[in-house]
This record gives sequence, structure tokens and C-alpha cells, in this order.
Amino acid sequence: MSADAADAVDFTSQPIAQLLVKVATRCNIDCSYCYWFRDAAVYDKPKLMSAAVLRQLLLRIEEHVCEHGLPDLPIVLHGGEPLLWGVDNFNHFAEACAAITARTGSVIPIAVTTNGVLIDDRWLDCFERHQISVAISLDGPAHIHDLHRKTFQGGGTHEAVVRAARLLVSRDIRTSALAVCNPAYAPRDYVEFFADCGITHYDIMIPDATVDEKPPAIAGFYNGLFDLWFEANRNRPAVNIRIVTDMVTALLGNNSPTEGVGYNPVELCTVMTDGSVEAHDVLRIAGNGFTQTTFNIFDHALDEIRNEPRWRAARDASINLAAKCQRCKFLNVCGGGYLPHRFSKANGYDNPSVYCDDLYAMFENMQNVLEQHLYVQKPGGGRVAMRDALKGGHRGER
Ligand code: SF4
Repeated sequence: MSADAADAVDFTSQPIAQLLVKVATRCNIDCSYCYWFRDAAVYDKPKLMSAAVLRQLLLRIEEHVCEHGLPDLPIVLHGGEPLLWGVDNFNHFAEACAAITARTGSVIPIAVTTNGVLIDDRWLDCFERHQISVAISLDGPAHIHDLHRKTFQGGGTHEAVVRAARLLVSRDIRTSALAVCNPAYAPRDYVEFFADCGITHYDIMIPDATVDEKPPAIAGFYNGLFDLWFEANRNRPAVNIRIVTDMVTALLGNNSPTEGVGYNPVELCTVMTDGSVEAHDVLRIAGNGFTQTTFNIFDHALDEIRNEPRWRAARDASINLAAKCQRCKFLNVCGGGYLPHRFSKANGYDNPSVYCDDLYAMFENMQNVLEQHLYVQKPGGGRVAMRDALKGGHRGER
């Protein structure tokens, strides 16, 4: 299950395979840890995507899927708070994407990430009718969530968000929750809370931090979370905690489906409210204007962003790992950590993750537990414990 650093991976250029579309640049709540407003440049952008930008975006989407014969092009609507764009715009966008599918055969799955506060029956009808997947930002129980996710008046938002989450799961809407880990609390607080809400798909994300910061250790939290996930899924798949399943997927030698785990190029293309195209959204954690490029969808096709120096630099940095990572036995499963967590003012992205020690401990723990419980089937029908199958194999170095 450990990666061999000698296994060179050849990352060939592929068409842009996923779009992040910023339909609103402002938010209706005031979360203390939000990376979005760390970059004052977001205030220079229009508050909402206009009809003219949307028209051009739809043209570019159709051009892109036709040019490359893509079977699908997933799109995530994002903000700020994307629901500020309005339910009529969402309905129009989804109908236009369905029309592109009818003309081209390329499926365009739509997802939205929202704080949930504005969700009412009209929104539920929209999500259900157009099969829009909804990820609701919910940091577990009130005593954790309300520490950071506040109104502009300083009050908590938990009650409103839980109301929205319960409405979502009561309908035929693909719903997940996105929490940010607070390692001062027990993972069981989150797991029991989401079970009580009826949410079976969620993520508890590693808090954003750069190498210039000193975030608290997280390995203890995630090792405890892994134990709870393992216990819950022992007999049948019951709960999907994304970061855990992604790490296990990577440890078992498969590509992790999300960019935060594994060794893959970060190739996300972000379209802003004015039609400008940016590098990965969360890289604005590095500071003002850090994601801005000179490209926009009026002058450039989506794939042209590959030639833009700043976008290209972030993409290349995601696969050109620091020397320590290149020697690490978890190179292929960790990939040096999430790209924003590798940034420092002194070295750019040429660092192991600020969470390197934690990540190593987490992968080591998972690998040990999985080795005890996984078996390799022998041709004759017998089986041998994974631990024994791996004995004497390459163990890499730290
Ligand atoms: S960040 Fe740390 S654990 Fe991850 S690949 Fe680099 S050295 Fe290994």
C-alpha cells in the first residue's frame, strides 16, 4: 500500500475537466476562517454574474465539450454565497446546461456549495428538478459551528443551517455536508451530529493554513475519525467521510477523486463573476491577487488557461514536489499535501505541507489498521493477510 518514490508518474495534458464558477462574490454571513475575503481583490469583481457573462460562459462550455468530445463536464457553482445569484438564474443555468447536453451528448452535472441560510421551498424545487447536488457548509454541532460561522451581527448561524440541512435531506436531493475540522473537539462530536441530521455523506476538511503559520496538530483528530469511520462501515457501507475514503482509496493504490489527497496535478479552472479566469480558488490563501490571470472567457477558450503563466505555475507546482516529499514513502498517496498548505512566502509551493508530520502519522496509522484487516485472495481459494503479503517489501523512507 505504500508508494514507491521511484514510480515516476507521467502527467500528460488533458482538457480542463471541471469548472468552478463564481456566480456571487459577496456573502451573507461572516465566517472567521474564510479564505475568500483574505484577498481584497474579490471586492473589485461584480457582486453577481451578469446575463452577458453567463451567455458567454454557456458558449464556452459548449465549445469546450464539443472540441474535446467530453462525456461530461462537472460544474460547481460557488461564491461568496452562490445562492445570492437567485433561484431564477440557477433555473436558467441548469436549463441551458440541459440544452447543451441535448445538443452534444455531454452531461453537465451541476453542484453547488452553500451556507444554506437562504434555502426555502423554491430552492428545494430547483435543486430537485435539475438534480443539482448540494454541499452545505456545516461545522457539526452548534458549539463548534458557531465559533466561526457567524452573522455580520456576531450571532451564530447554526440554527438556520441545520434547518436547511434537514429540509435538503427530506427531499430527493443529493446532499452532503462540508465541515472544517476543529481539532480541539472530539471527532465523535461531528460523527454523532451528522448521523442525527440524517447526513451520510460529508467531509471534515483540514483547516487552511500556509507553511508560514503554525496550525494546531490534527493527526489525533483524524486517527480518531478513521476509527469511527472504520467501525461504522465494518459490515456494510453506512457513512462516507470524504477525506477518509479518499485517503484509503489512495493507500489502496487508486486515484483519489479529490484534489486534496493524492499525487495529481491541480487543474481546476475558476471563472469569476466578470468572466475572468483564475487559478485554483483556494490559492488566494497566499494573499492579495494571488490567483488572478490576464485571461477571460470573452477573449479565450477555456483550455487556453493552460498557457497562462500564473495558472501554469500553480499547476506545475502541484506535481513538482519538495525534495523531502520525493523521498517519502507516502509520495503517491499524499502528494505533498494540499497545494495551498504548501505555500510559504520564502519558497512559494516548494515545501512539504504545513501538516506534513500529521499527514505522515495519519497515513501510517491507516496503513497499519488496513494491513490488519485486509486479505489477499490466493488463486487456490485461500487467503493471506495483507500484512504478511507485504512483509519484506519496499517500505520507503521518511
Ligand atoms: S507532505 Fe510529508 S507526508 Fe506528505 S508526501 Fe511530503 S513528506 Fe510525505
